[in-house]
Amino acid sequence: MLITRRHALGNSAFVLTGVVLAPQLAEAETAAFKQRTQSPGLYRLKVGAFEVTVLNDGFFRLPSAMLATNIAEAELKEFVKANHLGTDTFLAQMNVVLVSFGDRRVLIDPGRGGSPQSTTGRLAASLQAAGIEPASIDIVVFTHAHPDHLWGAVDTKAGTMHFPNAWYVLSDMEWDFWSDPERHGSFPERWRGMIPGTQAAFKLITDRTTQIKPGAEILPGIATIESRGHTPGHMSVLLDSNGEQALVIGDAITNQLISFAHPDWKPSYDGDMDQAVLARRRLLDQATTDRILLLAYHLPFPGVGNVARDGSAYRWIPEHWRWDL
Ligand SMILES: [Zn+2]
Repeated sequence: MLITRRHALGNSAFVLTGVVLAPQLAEAETAAFKQRTQSPGLYRLKVGAFEVTVLNDGFFRLPSAMLATNIAEAELKEFVKANHLGTDTFLAQMNVVLVSFGDRRVLIDPGRGGSPQSTTGRLAASLQAAGIEPASIDIVVFTHAHPDHLWGAVDTKAGTMHFPNAWYVLSDMEWDFWSDPERHGSFPERWRGMIPGTQAAFKLITDRTTQIKPGAEILPGIATIESRGHTPGHMSVLLDSNGEQALVIGDAITNQLISFAHPDWKPSYDGDMDQAVLARRRLLDQATTDRILLLAYHLPFPGVGNVARDGSAYRWIPEHWRWDL
């Protein structure tokens, strides 16, 4: 039997005739029921002996036109519309990665920070929901020093660090690039507005910061990989334990559709767009060949999944939600 919308509506109207809704229903609406956010932004998995917790720091929107600068505007608009990416703006999440093993805790890219009203800066609440004290974090690693990865480490107004006992790690090139932008003739004009906030954050963490060469191992099984392009000192982080691997990609791969289906499209938020394409293709190739799980900062929460080859491009395969570790 063919059920039309008209039939369905007719039936439900018939069924509900004479039904009186229980008056206690409204009173039963608890604070939890009325809450207008999702459950705590946590997702847990194991990578060998590492316990990984993905912690939500919120989200933000950027103009969709930023997604590709080297193709016709009409082509990008058509792709964006066909894939429901958002006509004028697209959504970027912030999936912060915590790696725990023994009594060590390493946090990678601690978010954007923000006021209680903003859509960012939710890492503190996510850490609390996970039962993790900020003071227990030993090492904070930055893939790069853009605001949405760095500023969540500090409260520049109060002049404090959110992770007071941590050592901070980033690449020497990245530190240099933001500390002394005038030395870099190619410093992108569009990033100048970020300099004061980034330098203020650097000032607060400088005594506890270790600058490294990309490629260096931070702790056994936690190694950095050079992936410059998005920024000059950008690096990714490879977790390797008991034969299992996961790659924390940072902003080398930023969109669940475009970065995979069109890795050569050049988003305007990449500093050196040609280098960014090379880095993206290198990581996608490595992740596909070695079947490495990706932990993706800006992809839909929790940003955990695999990558498959699709002709000369790739496909993002989000993993099935794990209900148990
Ligand atoms: Zn970012």
